[in-house]
Amino acid sequence: MGVFEAIGTDHHERVVVGHDPATGLRAIIAIYSTDLGPALGGTRLFPYPSDDAALTDVLRLSKGMAFKAAACGLDLGGGKAVIIGDRSMVTDDLWRAYGRFVDSLAGSYITAEDVGTTTDDMHVIAEETKWVVGRAAEDHGAGDPSPATARGVVRAMQAVANHMHGSESLAGSRIAIQGVGKVGSALVEYLVDEGAEIVIADINQAAADALVDRFGVKAIDKDDILFEECDILSPCSLGASIRAETVPRLRCRAVVGSANNQLDTEEDDDRLAERGILYVPDFVANAGGLIHVSAELDEFNAKLVQRRITGIYDAVLSILDQAAADNLTPNEAAIRFAEDRIRREGNGVTFRHGGQSA
Ligand code: NAD
Repeated sequence: MGVFEAIGTDHHERVVVGHDPATGLRAIIAIYSTDLGPALGGTRLFPYPSDDAALTDVLRLSKGMAFKAAACGLDLGGGKAVIIGDRSMVTDDLWRAYGRFVDSLAGSYITAEDVGTTTDDMHVIAEETKWVVGRAAEDHGAGDPSPATARGVVRAMQAVANHMHGSESLAGSRIAIQGVGKVGSALVEYLVDEGAEIVIADINQAAADALVDRFGVKAIDKDDILFEECDILSPCSLGASIRAETVPRLRCRAVVGSANNQLDTEEDDDRLAERGILYVPDFVANAGGLIHVSAELDEFNAKLVQRRITGIYDAVLSILDQAAADNLTPNEAAIRFAEDRIRREGNGVTFRHGGQSA
């Protein structure tokens, strides 16, 4: 697959490849848009089976970041980076080489941690570039964004509860969580406080068992969690849980989770709608982490961060209302809202031809 073929009609502003043979670094940075501001998005370290798979992922993730920033009212564009590999190749020299690569983009892309990378990695990257957020609190950063992401997911769930039965209370709601890593485990903690009935599963049995011991939640087999009967299914592992084979077997009323790219393809949005399952777009439900790390760009203001995360509730309600009014799925309504804001308030780089994006 060629790069331009992969970009298709999506109008990514810039896609850059970084290669450092000495450290084994093979990275792609994709900037979907800088219309609303610098493109902020994490660096994913993942053993992609091919360069094409890495390119596809970074293009999709960077577009999602642009929509996420636009939908939650941040003045940021959207970008993302992927590094092909795994933790066995990680050295400080690799992170320094990567830091120089990020620095070469002169602030149009700002990186942060993502799947496979840590706050410690960001610390080393920061030796070479100032365009990095998501460092540890003791390292002048805002710390791990995962609890903030989980708080935003709870607000999105409360908005769904309000939409479905007129009360934001989650007490007694049955919620199935796929993946209890950094976000999923924080989500369990918050939902226990809300009085929800929680079912969890993780491929890492020890992670699930720890939450069973701590909170008395129920753990089930990882292959069954998507099909558990529940009010809300919450995908908090990797993407593409919602796909042609799984949608017919879902037994939930709504899908609200933290994972990026929960839908395998755009058709899965229609499949959910046909089954009457309400889907809160991932890029809206999981915006709490971006809100948290982006606050590092100014003087970190915990109250403002809290207010913005709380605002995810209103954002979800307004998307659901707009979707109903325009006969769209919530995902379509959210994308339209984000694109409108980029077009209306942005500097016009991405949409300079005034055309429709895909
Ligand atoms: P994590 O790696 O800490 O947790 C993911 C968990 O999912 C792990 O415990 C893993 O064992 C489990 N898992 C993987 N495949 C599974 C499967 N098939 N079934 C059940 N469990 C499975 O990652 P995280 O930081 O908690 O992020 C979770 C998701 O949320 C990711 O998709 C991430 O991109 C997204 N996200 C995270 C943040 C954040 O602040 N951390 C922000 C926005 C989006």
